[in-house]
Amino acid sequence: MTSQDSKILEEKNEILKNNLDHTLFSWSKQKGIQPLVVDHAKGVYLYTHDGKKVLDFSSGLMNVNIGHGDQRVTQAVVKQMEKASYVTPASATKIRGDLGKKLAEICPGDINKAFFTVCGATSIENAIKLARLYTGRHKILTRYRSYHGSTMGAMSASGDPRRLKVDVQQAPNFVHIEIPYKYRATGENWEQEAYDQLDRLIAFEGPENIAAIIMEGESGTSGCLQLPKGYWKKLREVCDEHGILLISDEVMSGFARTGKWFGVENHGVVPDIMALAKGITAGYLPFGALMVSDAIAKKFDNEPLMLGLTYSGHPVACAAALEVINIYEEDNLIHRTAAMGNYMEERIEEMKTIHPSIGDFRNKGLLGCIELVRNRKTKEPMASFNAKPTELVIMNQVKAKIAELGMYTFSKWSFIFIAPPLCISKEQIDEGLSILSEALKIADAVCES
Ligand code: PLP
Repeated sequence: MTSQDSKILEEKNEILKNNLDHTLFSWSKQKGIQPLVVDHAKGVYLYTHDGKKVLDFSSGLMNVNIGHGDQRVTQAVVKQMEKASYVTPASATKIRGDLGKKLAEICPGDINKAFFTVCGATSIENAIKLARLYTGRHKILTRYRSYHGSTMGAMSASGDPRRLKVDVQQAPNFVHIEIPYKYRATGENWEQEAYDQLDRLIAFEGPENIAAIIMEGESGTSGCLQLPKGYWKKLREVCDEHGILLISDEVMSGFARTGKWFGVENHGVVPDIMALAKGITAGYLPFGALMVSDAIAKKFDNEPLMLGLTYSGHPVACAAALEVINIYEEDNLIHRTAAMGNYMEERIEEMKTIHPSIGDFRNKGLLGCIELVRNRKTKEPMASFNAKPTELVIMNQVKAKIAELGMYTFSKWSFIFIAPPLCISKEQIDEGLSILSEALKIADAVCES
């Protein structure tokens, strides 16, 4: 080891020590974690402090849609900071108005007004509050498996098992329904059963008590589960019939991720409220927005809107968002995502022929998930829903191999997510899939068929 190498190692160890000794990491036991020590990032790659190049195959947490290190955003942010780095939410600025106008232009139908937030959870939290204020009703209907954020309301709205650890703290009046799951459905009648279940639940809960139904525009960490055709349309009909608001959580599926501006546009439906975050600034700054229909906005023309955040309409975050939206357009990322998504699907179809552990692949644009199984016929999962650490031995080995080969991607239980930055090239997709293919040999070895 050269003296330069040992200096770098020493620095890296100090960074790690400061992080581990003085900061807490999300969703983990703190002892034994080995975070990647990232120094800088560019395009689809992260670079570690000790000079390792790591392919980011899930765009951070499915948010860095435009890719890392785009200096167009840096310039826009600096320019705004030089003018005004903070104004109160009661102030008007050019950047806030320009962003609101742009969002109204790209959002579907009559969704024309934005309330700015700071992240996905605060978008959902305010969506829930607004839906209750608007309808005067209290219940919120959401889906098991879904994730809507970690604050009290958003966590209670989620169907992700992370909420179970804080079960006693859950906010009241959230009702969950099963998310249709084609791959694991039993019987031919699964689509009809999904519709019938929805009708039954609404009748049981009393439609006059339900303020809103929240759905992910396209399923994300719930496993990229593809809905029956017409499911969103059915939801729209039910909501219209009973005066229930339809909320599309576009935090992960928004901003070109699925090959459209917003996931819900894949289903030909206009919701009443859309919750945005992640891709709105592609992770360059924390930010979010709640987009509302004209009818909802109108109600607050003559009564106070009881929502507020110190950082609502933050001018620097608005500048980042407006520039990121320009980049989606300038770099043609919506069209590109749809094309790259098709390429990804073709390549994974080929991989299925050599990897018996691939049970299913579900994808929309570049929001995809491989589900690993131990047996293709019985569909026994490689790790079950909310699997205990003892059930995760093989998946942990697969994950460790992916990391060893120089790739990062989000995974949980038997799901491996494929959601790279939308600027990814075919060659870079091939690079990621060949790493995945190598790692899947570990899972293939325990497959029974
Ligand atoms: N909604 C969805 C669909 C998400 O995927 C997430 C985060 O992954 C959230 C909301 C919460 O976003 P945040 O972590 O920015 O609060």
